[in-house]
Amino acid sequence: MVRRADLTDRPPPRSTDLDPPDVALVVVAHPDDAEFQCGGTIAKWARLGAAVHHLVLTDGSKGTWDATADTTALARRRQLEQEEAADLLGGTSVTFLGLTDGELTSDVANRDRVCEVVRRLRPDVVLGHDPWKRYRLHPDHAAAGRLVVEGIVAARDPWFAPEQLRDGLTPHRPRALLLFEPDEADHAETFGEADLDRKVAALLAHRSQWETTHLHHSPTGDDEAPLDAFRRREAELAADAGRWAGAPFAEAYHLLDDEL
Ligand SMILES: [Zn+2]
Repeated sequence: MVRRADLTDRPPPRSTDLDPPDVALVVVAHPDDAEFQCGGTIAKWARLGAAVHHLVLTDGSKGTWDATADTTALARRRQLEQEEAADLLGGTSVTFLGLTDGELTSDVANRDRVCEVVRRLRPDVVLGHDPWKRYRLHPDHAAAGRLVVEGIVAARDPWFAPEQLRDGLTPHRPRALLLFEPDEADHAETFGEADLDRKVAALLAHRSQWETTHLHHSPTGDDEAPLDAFRRREAELAADAGRWAGAPFAEAYHLLDDEL
């Protein structure tokens, strides 16, 4: 996955730094999406005492350029990498739905699965892909964005997935939804160097992605080692968002709160 902060033409954020949540839930299409998009934010919140839960929708089994790869083994490896990455960010739990990578759909069955996790974990703040992001290529990111929005709508309303309520769950309404890689960035979560270091360490736990993602999108400078180029690029992206937000480092979001 590729992303650009692309904040040079944006007006300044209309808000910066939510009150840290007690419970946060990150909903992503693939292993590694959370670390790229919001790793600094969740490192900060975990450090401040939040329980941070990860929900990974697909199995990541297409995350290789090797056409002869054992994709079952790859999916298992990516689960282990995701658990290690979440741990490095101070995370509390990782839930894998195990849906097929590249084939994610925002149908009612998948929406109800997201709804069930929201009702069970009861997050104050949910983070997810922006379903309204223009010119996006990857179908899973668009579908995952729709699922997080629709899953939140379902979770708050007792007439959506009512069978879950018979199982002892109750409706739940988060106070904020932060959409990352936003079509219109209007909110920043700021952080310092220690949280940036945690984000980079967590990203590097996704070792099976180094070839296709981390190193592929990080051109090296003169005499620069590939991993140094990756660290430099992550620091530059976080610093770009930081300049927009008036802080050393930041991640950019579109905030939905009144709409919830
Ligand atoms: Zn992804």
